[in-house]
Amino acid sequence: MDTKNAKFGTKAIHGGIEPDESTGAIMTPIYQTSTYVQSEVGKHKGYEYSRTLNPTRDALEKNLAAIENGKYGAAFASGLAAIDAMLKMLNPGDEVVSTNDLYGGTFRIFKSIFEKFGIKFHFVPMQDVSSVEQYINENTRLIWVETPTNPMLNIIDIKAMSELAKKHDVMLGVDNTFATPYLQNPLDLGADLVMHSVTKYLGGHSDIVMGALVTNRKDIADEIYHIQNSSGGVAGPMDSFLVLRGIKTLHVRIQRHCENAAKVAKMLNEHPKVDKVYWPGLESHPNHDIAKKQMRDFGGMMSFTLKDDSQENAHKIVTKTKVFTLAESLGGVESLLGHPATMTHAAIPKEEREKAGVKDSLIRLSIGIEDGDDLVADLEEALK
Ligand SMILES: *Cc1c(COP(=O)(O)O)cnc(C)c1O
Repeated sequence: MDTKNAKFGTKAIHGGIEPDESTGAIMTPIYQTSTYVQSEVGKHKGYEYSRTLNPTRDALEKNLAAIENGKYGAAFASGLAAIDAMLKMLNPGDEVVSTNDLYGGTFRIFKSIFEKFGIKFHFVPMQDVSSVEQYINENTRLIWVETPTNPMLNIIDIKAMSELAKKHDVMLGVDNTFATPYLQNPLDLGADLVMHSVTKYLGGHSDIVMGALVTNRKDIADEIYHIQNSSGGVAGPMDSFLVLRGIKTLHVRIQRHCENAAKVAKMLNEHPKVDKVYWPGLESHPNHDIAKKQMRDFGGMMSFTLKDDSQENAHKIVTKTKVFTLAESLGGVESLLGHPATMTHAAIPKEEREKAGVKDSLIRLSIGIEDGDDLVADLEEALK
């Protein structure tokens, strides 16, 4: 269905999706096939081989494009496979300016894989957009933004960054995993390319690993589809089906994630044992105004530190909760919590970690869609 002028919930459910032509099935079937019959040499129904094109993945790619207000979507085997494909648009000698408060896996693929192919990366704080310009030179091809960032929930002004990118004729890519297209649409704010770890909120049920790229630019889309087919890190049909199903409730889930996050943030903010709460919805958050401008609500991710700042105290809390469970990842219906200093950010030296704000007692929450009062009570009990 063409949902160009529809509101988000309609796009999520109908965007890019048509009833199955051969049977009328309202749900896109799982086309679990690698190849397609040709009646004569080269005569087929548009599908030749599933690395190149698969009907279930195709429906998902159109749906992803619809919810990001983009024209072209591409689904990959993971979020990092999507980033891998994006980086393959670059050439040796090209430079990338990236935010410094970055998803660890993104940092790893930049540094340990693509640097050896001659691409240079600058990791810089981006809350003050004017300070980014000094890192741009004639070799810069890409500005890479993650907002909100992980785990400090910093907010970067996408529109201001897109103006800087356009001024220097540089591509702007945005990792929109934390916000989701329901809360923030980087393409509308001037970005050239949006990336998702679909594993998180878009899948939404902690049962698949997948990634996506969405763009409005035909030149970028042509390159991405060429790389997707040539490198082959594609999403499978079963996973594509599960994500199509997940996205149908994205707006409803995110509304509840945000509602619950507001309740939890309020309690933590007033709690005597808690030092700082990092959630862009709090007026005390340093980037609250930009968050209000570019996001529809403030999302379900949050971090906080303890007044008595120690790993020991944080470890006690993360093992005492009953509703929140200790695990990496985020964005599912169930609430998770983690301790970045000893889990996701353990590989970063303490000094560098703390410079970015990742203190020993920092605890990261992925607020689920259970009853909000139970989440508050669970954390209050653990904080005792
Ligand atoms: C998880 C995540 C990724 C990587 O995605 P995978 O699906 O795990 O490969 C990238 N960026 C952010 C912000 C993430 O949370």
